[in-house]
Amino acid sequence: MSDMERLLQQWDGHAVVTHFDRPTGTWVFIAIHDMTLGPALGGCRLRMYDSPADGLHDAMRLAEGMTHKWAVIGFPYGGGKTVMAVGKLLDAEEREGLFRRYGRLLQSLGGCYAAGEDLGTTPADMAVVAEETEFAHGLDRATGDPVDPGPYTALGVFTAIRTALQRAYGSPRPTGRTVLVQGMGDVGWPLAKRLKEEGAAVLAADTDAARLRRAVAELGCVPVEADHVYATPCDVYAPCAVGATLNERTVPLLQCRVVAGSANNQLEAPEVAEALHARGILYAPDYVVNAGGAIALPMLHRGAREGEVRIRVEGIGETLAAIFAEAAERGESPVHAARRRVERVLEAARPARDPVPA
Ligand code: NAD
Repeated sequence: MSDMERLLQQWDGHAVVTHFDRPTGTWVFIAIHDMTLGPALGGCRLRMYDSPADGLHDAMRLAEGMTHKWAVIGFPYGGGKTVMAVGKLLDAEEREGLFRRYGRLLQSLGGCYAAGEDLGTTPADMAVVAEETEFAHGLDRATGDPVDPGPYTALGVFTAIRTALQRAYGSPRPTGRTVLVQGMGDVGWPLAKRLKEEGAAVLAADTDAARLRRAVAELGCVPVEADHVYATPCDVYAPCAVGATLNERTVPLLQCRVVAGSANNQLEAPEVAEALHARGILYAPDYVVNAGGAIALPMLHRGAREGEVRIRVEGIGETLAAIFAEAAERGESPVHAARRRVERVLEAARPARDPVPA
């Protein structure tokens, strides 16, 4: 059995649409994990993988993460994600052709999945997709320009940090607290800025030295070397760079009370949540913390006003507080309470949407 066959056989998702884009040699996987709450919606990621099967695996994992994210925020979408596993660097013409054909593929699916921008794809790519399909997401309704979800995601992370501070220290105020932001990109930068404005001391790390220097000069952050992040004492560690930074090597080093950040898939393996819990570190589940962009984009797509969107994003605080309370009552990691919440939402929607017995 091939790796791809094995992955497909083991997956509990809804379906995978697979397309090989011959002109560019790109495997395109559209993984639709669950449509209980509505049509699937999730980003389109483009990168090189060691093998097409690795790209398929990533698409499946990311699509499942989207199911959880939509359910936990109560939005009527299913979990889906596209992975474009490119075999080489594409020139501008090849790239445009790939996204144009991808747009037509989305259109042919008739709306059971819509895509937005993600890692490796750009506003320009999504503009090409939008010329071919009505199922491109993340564009400003009035101008047609792509919306940057970063500031909304940062607002959600900021709100989550306040909620976690309340639970850990009895006050949500960042004043006088030390927050270590790992990754000063589209999310980390506005997050650090807001934290500074609210009186926190912000330690910043970034593998991009120029970006880190700017964060020190413009925001007044204290630099931390990328390798020293985990052992640096702080109140909150906010991973806003890459996934899997919480693992059996890093957790024993941590000197923080709270972990709350935007990176997807922060836990290298599910059991890492137990290790954090055993060390008394409050872990805010990533897909709850980083849902701000996911909340904002569909709302803006439907023409919602900025103020409404911000209120809804700040609702992440209330959701997280409920998750923390349920977890504390049971003496468990918040990942379990978050997961039960997802299951409750999906379960409540199932009978109405899926009358066919399994
Ligand atoms: P970005 O690419 O704009 O920024 C990431 C930053 O992290 C860059 O400055 C990069 O140099 C730095 N970096 C990379 N590896 C690092 C390392 N090992 N140590 C320190 N710094 C490192 O990305 P972003 O849009 O800010 O997203 C950050 C994370 O949040 C990603 O994991 C992303 O998947 C997740 N996320 C983002 C959004 C969003 O709205 N942008 C939404 C949900 C989740």
